[in-house]
Amino acid sequence: MQCSKCRREAIVYQRYSGLHLCEQHFNRDFEAKAKRAIREHHWIESGDTVAVALSGGKDSSAVLFFLHGLLGERRDVRLMAITVDEGIAGYRDPDRARRLSEGMGVPWVTASFRDAYGITLDEIVARKGTGLSCTYCGVLRRALMNRVAREEGVTKFAYGFNLDDGAQSVLMNVLRGDAAHLTRPVREVEGLVPRIRPFLYIPEREVALYAFLHVEGFDLAGCPYAVGALRRDVRGILDEYTYRHPATKYSLVRLGEALRRTDAAAGSGFGVCERCGEPMPVKEGKGICRACQVLDELRGA
Ligand code: SF4
Repeated sequence: MQCSKCRREAIVYQRYSGLHLCEQHFNRDFEAKAKRAIREHHWIESGDTVAVALSGGKDSSAVLFFLHGLLGERRDVRLMAITVDEGIAGYRDPDRARRLSEGMGVPWVTASFRDAYGITLDEIVARKGTGLSCTYCGVLRRALMNRVAREEGVTKFAYGFNLDDGAQSVLMNVLRGDAAHLTRPVREVEGLVPRIRPFLYIPEREVALYAFLHVEGFDLAGCPYAVGALRRDVRGILDEYTYRHPATKYSLVRLGEALRRTDAAAGSGFGVCERCGEPMPVKEGKGICRACQVLDELRGA
């Protein structure tokens, strides 16, 4: 099949645009979308230190490559990468992330559950089973990432979050009836490093293609503790529906953004954890944040 814009051979078909694109036009289209997202949200400004949350997988590796190309020559914006090692044997290999980062000449910093909390995710799972592994992992990783980022003077956290991730999250919150998450406002919270998601409007398969075209040595292994039955179901439903209605994922992401700007969103706020001093949503109550609650539970407090 020929590229819709030139005579070269196409490497991808975009159902939502009706376009077949060759490698050159795919790259151009992909990077234009990511740059537009950054511009639209004013995600990167002069003076920023942007840290990629680098797991070593395809999405975060792709965002590191993209931002390196975009910011590499700029003197007014600093780029770095941070990897958190949760301690999952055979899955998380911080060395892979280090090699990716160093290969692009991007400064790299790492932190581990073992050093920060005195326990690895493998040990948590051995004690608690796999049922809540993603909850423990997510809460502790976010808290640790945020702490390291602040120590490094990071002003923006870049995630490889893509259109599929965004649409799945909105639909999952709808199915759970989780109004608090759907309407949590997008605003700056003291002590919480803001997140940016340059690939928010780009489908997962295109992010994967971009990673395959540009990055060598990213991690293809899946986490052995990934359970997420609801996310798996939602992914299946959305993929099937989007085949017939190609704009659906995009519409869901835009719906999520609109809900975060409503009056309902204006009422929800952030406070500070009484124990560790980290920011936390007020609805968590109890005076201590989720990470401290999880650590109490693990220590049998
Ligand atoms: Fe952590 Fe769950 Fe992701 Fe595995 S799948 S790295 S346990 S959040």
